[in-house]
Amino acid sequence: MSTPSSRPHNVADVIPTPEAIRAAVAAQRGMVERLFSTLAAGSQGHPGIMRDTYGPGENFGHAVMVEAATAAGLAVRTDAAANTYATWRGADAAAPAILMGSHLDSVPHGGNFDGAAGVIAGLVTIAALRELGLQPRCDVTVMGVRAEESVWFQVSYIGSRSALGTLPEGALEATRIDTGRSLADHMRDCGGDPEALRRGVRALDPRQVRAFLEVHIEQAPSLFEAGFPIAICTGIPGNFRYPDARIVGRHDHVGTPRRFRRDAAMAGMALAHAMDEIWAAQEAAGTQIAITFGRFHTDAEMHGLTTVPGEFHFSLDVRAYDEAVLAGLEAQMHEAIGRIEAQRNVTFELGQRASAAVGPVDAGIKTALTDASDRLGIRSMPLGSPASHDSAAFAAAGVPVAMLFVRNEHGSHNPKEAMEIDDFMDAAAVMAVWVADNIGVADGTR
Ligand SMILES: [Zn+2]
Repeated sequence: MSTPSSRPHNVADVIPTPEAIRAAVAAQRGMVERLFSTLAAGSQGHPGIMRDTYGPGENFGHAVMVEAATAAGLAVRTDAAANTYATWRGADAAAPAILMGSHLDSVPHGGNFDGAAGVIAGLVTIAALRELGLQPRCDVTVMGVRAEESVWFQVSYIGSRSALGTLPEGALEATRIDTGRSLADHMRDCGGDPEALRRGVRALDPRQVRAFLEVHIEQAPSLFEAGFPIAICTGIPGNFRYPDARIVGRHDHVGTPRRFRRDAAMAGMALAHAMDEIWAAQEAAGTQIAITFGRFHTDAEMHGLTTVPGEFHFSLDVRAYDEAVLAGLEAQMHEAIGRIEAQRNVTFELGQRASAAVGPVDAGIKTALTDASDRLGIRSMPLGSPASHDSAAFAAAGVPVAMLFVRNEHGSHNPKEAMEIDDFMDAAAVMAVWVADNIGVADGTR
């Protein structure tokens, strides 16, 4: 793996200046605007965007990527999970590749830039560096990742983990929330080969990946608040999740005295309150975490104005940047549940547990990206990602990863998600400077 210190001094002569790279990136603006508008036009969710995972919407995103990459003369291939790869071939097939990319699916009624920005930034980077006449020593590949949005199958990082050979056992049997069909069936429909994944076939060897770089819109308006166009990611949270948890008590008459009640809704409220107190304490101690009850409801078959709820359903997502913090939070959650069960005479059935590992970013790449933005006069700030990203799956597999966030006023996973193309071009320019500095040269001097 090459490092800046191992670079012979003559390489600096062939790498264009950051300003020249930024200008070459800026020249791709027409392509950027065209790709974003093509994507939006073909995946309308009324309102917002609908690029359903392993469905017509996501397939459309991949088709747009394939068309753009083919037109640019890149080598296009897909893998057993139907991820798409567009490669600018390097002179040395054995040199570890640089990967850039993100996902091409969306949540229902999501935004157009979430995920797609990372794929388009990769295509822009390659187009700009090729126009500058560079010849890479290693392959430079854009990856259109499948199935990042876990809302559809309630499994994290399906595409990236399939490619890396780290998809958990049983994941292929997960069913899509709306169709009820299995991940394996959906994958097959989209040209994938789930049987190959079951046999342990993987598309990517982590040791053969020099780095994975992901440009992504920010999820909360932190950059908007701070007035910065881009951020350099400092870490990606890990999580534990209970997608289908249930509290069982007893349905009773509305007038039942408190001591007789086994009120499942009040128990749900008590857990939410306990978790919020835990969060407040972590925040006061300066530890960044997030706790979300995404679903939180009584049983629609039975509930009503005059019935004490005997059943309550919720989902829970807890995320943090440190595995020890996550483990501590889960222990505190179980403690709270034990207390609430005793106090309220109910039973918690947490159901299936899912989790994703914390994704550390590569310190060297992070510093180099910060330097690149400084040299270009682009104002950037460090930012811990509030969200999960495919980069975390790469990091967990041992690949050096880095992320760049683009300012977004309205949050993501909603139709109002917003991104200025100027800000996006800044992120692409910073990434392109790093890539130019790390592709080596075709004569094999690196
Ligand atoms: Zn995303």
